[in-house]
Amino acid sequence: MIGDPVLRLRFLKVMRPPARRRRRRLGMWMVWPALVLAVIAFFLAKYAAGKPEAAPAVTMRAEPPVIREVAQPASVWQVEKSTGSEVYSNGLRIDTRFEVASHPRSYLAFPSSTAGSRAPARRSMPAGIVFHTTESALAPFEAGETSALKRLGESLLDYVRRKGAYHYLIDRFGRVYRVVAESDAANHAGYSVWADDNWLYLNLNESFLGVSFEAQTPGGQSNDLVSPAQVRSAGMLTEMLRSIYQIPAGNCVTHAQVSVNPSNMQMGYHTDWATGFPFAALGLPDNYARALPSLWIFGFEYDPRLFGSPDNRISAGVGLAEQDFLRAAAAAGLQPAAYRKTLQQRYREYLAEVRRGGQGQSEEGDK
Ligand SMILES: [Zn+2]
Repeated sequence: MIGDPVLRLRFLKVMRPPARRRRRRLGMWMVWPALVLAVIAFFLAKYAAGKPEAAPAVTMRAEPPVIREVAQPASVWQVEKSTGSEVYSNGLRIDTRFEVASHPRSYLAFPSSTAGSRAPARRSMPAGIVFHTTESALAPFEAGETSALKRLGESLLDYVRRKGAYHYLIDRFGRVYRVVAESDAANHAGYSVWADDNWLYLNLNESFLGVSFEAQTPGGQSNDLVSPAQVRSAGMLTEMLRSIYQIPAGNCVTHAQVSVNPSNMQMGYHTDWATGFPFAALGLPDNYARALPSLWIFGFEYDPRLFGSPDNRISAGVGLAEQDFLRAAAAAGLQPAAYRKTLQQRYREYLAEVRRGGQGQSEEGDK
């Protein structure tokens, strides 16, 4: 039924039997020699070399990445609150001297299943966290640069405060500043899109908390954007927010994963943390391996040069979303292009409902 030969090929790739079943058909006669070879290789490696060496590189099989889910964090509570700071039971300290108010959080969450035509729910509790980089000017992270590092951090704090740009800013020394009150919306992600098992979120300024690292993405992307102090503080902050608001681990994602441009229906208007986000160090599963909801639920498209490149970890979620999209199109009995139109129509209807609700007048907010 699929006219376009490229889409047809992708569809056939998606619909072929899973690799596990095909392997089983090869039979045990393939497995035993491999096991014997593996044992010999192990002993050779152990005794041949004088000192231990890194394991030889193994060709990775092209299988979908596995998400190792994590439990909800143990209870974290506020231990102390004084003028200018808060201390939490997990070691987190928040500087609140520069906190500003915007307007109280209020948003619509849409049921992810259209079956039963459940109405959207009006909510005021944060449903997730979006992680950002500030993309601001940086000095070398060295003791001799301390005054320059402090000066840059202070002017950044002043800027994001005036813009109401994030709920939290983590400076290069790992100091955590609350910029916008948790009960309020911040201008960090505009009309971004995310979804969990039950709900779709279309305006993350209102529905998700914004946490930004003082950091700059060097040309392309890097795995080492932030200091160890920033990672430790972000871990404690994430743990506190997840504990207090019962935020699911799968709703802690990066700006690049959620950012969309409704005017041209392309994902990835902003690209911060398209790769290299330290999910594991923050006690989170590898959320790069989640199929991106903007693509498979709302029919957004993407720039394959950027988001299809294996250099960017986000490509894992893009690939899975593309497979989900083609499967759903087949299940609906529609050509992919026709199916995409139905998804985009659904997005426009939901967005109109969000706008009627008076939310999200500001477009994507960060620098
Ligand atoms: Zn951002």
